[in-house]
Amino acid sequence: MYVIVQILQGCTAGNIIKDCDLSMSPRLLFGFCIALTLCLLMLHYFVSSRSIIELVGSCVDKGCFDLQVGEKFQPVIQTFVDATRFDGKINTKSKPQLGYLNFYVASSKLPGRLSWIKCNCAYIGSDTIICDEAFLRSFSSSVNFTRDSIYGKDADKIWEDVRRTLSKVNDDTSTNLAAWIIGHEIGHAVLHEASSSLRRIAMTREMENAADSYYLDRALAAKDPKAADKVSWALNQFIFQAVSLAYDNGKARIAASVDDVHDPWLLRAMALGQRIVDKSRNPADDFYKSLGQSISVEPTGSGVGSFCEFQNIREKAAKKQEQRLEEQPD
Ligand SMILES: [Zn+2]
Repeated sequence: MYVIVQILQGCTAGNIIKDCDLSMSPRLLFGFCIALTLCLLMLHYFVSSRSIIELVGSCVDKGCFDLQVGEKFQPVIQTFVDATRFDGKINTKSKPQLGYLNFYVASSKLPGRLSWIKCNCAYIGSDTIICDEAFLRSFSSSVNFTRDSIYGKDADKIWEDVRRTLSKVNDDTSTNLAAWIIGHEIGHAVLHEASSSLRRIAMTREMENAADSYYLDRALAAKDPKAADKVSWALNQFIFQAVSLAYDNGKARIAASVDDVHDPWLLRAMALGQRIVDKSRNPADDFYKSLGQSISVEPTGSGVGSFCEFQNIREKAAKKQEQRLEEQPD
């Protein structure tokens, strides 16, 4: 290190001993320490980026991911990478590629450092997003339209008539909700390149809001003229179910998000709904604001504020409906 300092001071290898002033000024030492720290940080960043890529790559080899499911999301992903550095560069089929947006869906429990990605999607840095398959599967029927929930147990005939319509509604809602999660993570990849949930490089709340805004701006800019209606519909389905299930004694009481950085999904859905209203022809509509007054985040609140609990939402809703039907007089 001493020799390096001397070289920085203008000494050459040949005259270090003879001509150079070998005393090190405190300022120079300070500057050198800063430079060394920066070098070490960059080295750490480089090595940990590499190891994430290698980790995911070996997982691709071992079959941790369902590459076909990943591929199915290509059209959704495309909406969110148009005109970005990932345009035309989506990789869902092979090991992570440099400069590509790499997207994978786990087919089973992920190993080692990836194992925390449960019931979620995450941007793990190095242009790579991983989703848990169980989480995406929960969107395959994200609203609670089942025969029993609407007409009771003996309603085969009526049910058959409307089944088709409801299943289309289910599909639309699921697709739009899944697009939210994926669009949000792509927002992190595009806007917050250096961040990583895997390396615990913290996302701030501002970054989280920016990722949600990224999703919404692009979802609404889609060519479909009814895009705003469809997104609102999907968000409202989620909001209504979550609120009605968490409603207890005058308020919907929900739990905070597990990571403490994101707001609970329910509040995020409402914030997005409000933004759509703000952009609409009737910006004075204060539906979400007044609904917000009936919601409180409490430690003992219901977990329905989280998408992770989607499965629970459906089960809880079915139970509630069952009770309602039993209580009905014949
Ligand atoms: Zn996020």
